[in-house]
Amino acid sequence: MSLLPSSPARVSSASPRRPLRRAPRRGGAVAARAASDARASSDAPGRDGTSSSSDDARDDAKPRTPPRVVILGGGIQGCATAYYLSKRGIPSTIVERVSVAAAASGKAGGFLAGGWGDRVTEPLHAKSAALHEALAEELALETYRKIPTLSVAGGDGGGGSNSSNAAPPPVSWLDGDVRRAELMDDTTAQVTPMELTTRLHEEAMKMEGAETIYGEAESVALEPVENDSDSDDAKDSGERRVVGVVVKKQSSAAGVSDGEEETITLPCDVCVVAMGPWSTRASAWFGVDVPMTGVKSVSLEFPASDAVKAEPAALFCAEDRNGCHLEVYPRSTGEVYVCGCGGSEYVDEARLMPGGDLDSAEKVWTDETRVRAASDSFGQLSRSVGGRGGPARTQSCMRPCPPDARPIIGAVPGVRGAYMNCGHNCWGILWAPISGKVVSELVADGKAASADLTHFAPGRFMTAAQKRGRKMRDVNVGEQW
Ligand SMILES: Cc1cc2nc3c(=O)[nH]c(=O)nc-3n(C[C@H](O)[C@H](O)[C@H](O)COP(=O)(O)OP(=O)(O)OC[C@H]3O[C@@H](n4cnc5c(N)ncnc54)[C@H](O)[C@@H]3O)c2cc1C
Repeated sequence: MSLLPSSPARVSSASPRRPLRRAPRRGGAVAARAASDARASSDAPGRDGTSSSSDDARDDAKPRTPPRVVILGGGIQGCATAYYLSKRGIPSTIVERVSVAAAASGKAGGFLAGGWGDRVTEPLHAKSAALHEALAEELALETYRKIPTLSVAGGDGGGGSNSSNAAPPPVSWLDGDVRRAELMDDTTAQVTPMELTTRLHEEAMKMEGAETIYGEAESVALEPVENDSDSDDAKDSGERRVVGVVVKKQSSAAGVSDGEEETITLPCDVCVVAMGPWSTRASAWFGVDVPMTGVKSVSLEFPASDAVKAEPAALFCAEDRNGCHLEVYPRSTGEVYVCGCGGSEYVDEARLMPGGDLDSAEKVWTDETRVRAASDSFGQLSRSVGGRGGPARTQSCMRPCPPDARPIIGAVPGVRGAYMNCGHNCWGILWAPISGKVVSELVADGKAASADLTHFAPGRFMTAAQKRGRKMRDVNVGEQW
């Protein structure tokens, strides 16, 4: 049966792939706890910026004195950053609180739509989709594949299947109450996020000097940068540099806490914050506002079926009477992943910060009312898969969403060696390769060659008071009054 071509449509407003409301802002206090054994870095990274051409030929070049890099967070952003750094000859230490891919990066859909960006995000979509294809080969991924996407509307309990004059659904397992099912985009792809994240991690950790430490990053140690200028004004720029990361380290190596912990300081020149929604903690470390909402959602996995394996298609479903707007992603193994279950919870920063009820990936609980609603909705659309006894697995995770729903990627103004790679909202799996690559360029070269980061700058949420007197290297980033 032929899939009708249509132009790639933007997702409906009922989809979680939409701009989100603004999260409340908070002021940040600067934590500057210096590590005495940290050396000052002469090759510390430069500032956020772009250059006109990409230079893949240099990917294997090894800098003479690699900076000591600590990446906070073992989700897909942290692991992609470590992977691309390793390709530049720079080993990194990943600090992960729970386990690699413990949060959204192990529980997401893995849908990849290279053509769905808006004016600002289009380059991230397109470039990262191409990098995914390359990574699938480089890492010998088993779960990456091209897959068409269908736009689907259920009959909403009206009974029967397709109305008599509608074309039959393009896949046989859509055998329930389906009013419409038509091709939306035939250039989409998918990958299972757990496989990609763990493979990026494995490859990055193969490099000599690379390491994963299981524990909670508690703060970043900073010290003032002394300018060699003669002028007192220039000397007192207020610029600081990263010299270490303070970690409450677990004694067990596997990332499973046995209750024994010790606090250590890891000396470093570069720190990359990639803690998903929990990156909001960096506000207090750097004195730069990092506003973030964690959007907590349920997802389900239905047991494998031969029909799904033989006829793969991603489905974007219209909002239904259960308040679901299902997104359905068949895995290459035949299981069916379902999200878009509706009723997402908007978790504010106070709940993400230490002491908050969702301050760790381990505490993200599942709303059973949404599981029941989504099970019913999918069972209506696909009797043979969804109506066979319910999901085999249910889980929840949070997508990290800044107020403008754009990621936060780049150098932290006023803090030499500090970078952010977080806030990727509902496109964090798709955008991980380009985000990790561009952060590796910032660290290795001091400039971003692969993408223009202007709209994603970490300093964009700074208050006027935070900007006052700030400099980043020789560039003023706020008014000097
Ligand atoms: C239901 C759902 C479906 C999705 N589907 C898709 C999709 O189909 N396609 C797509 O592109 N995107 C999708 N996303 C979005 C994507 O999953 C996220 O944007 C992405 O996983 C975020 O990755 P991350 O590495 O920034 O954060 P996370 O995956 O949240 O990882 C952060 C890590 O940091 C660790 N950490 C936190 N605090 C500390 C600390 N103090 N010290 C040390 N470690 C710490 C955590 O334990 C965690 O492992 C989906 C999201 C959800 C919720």
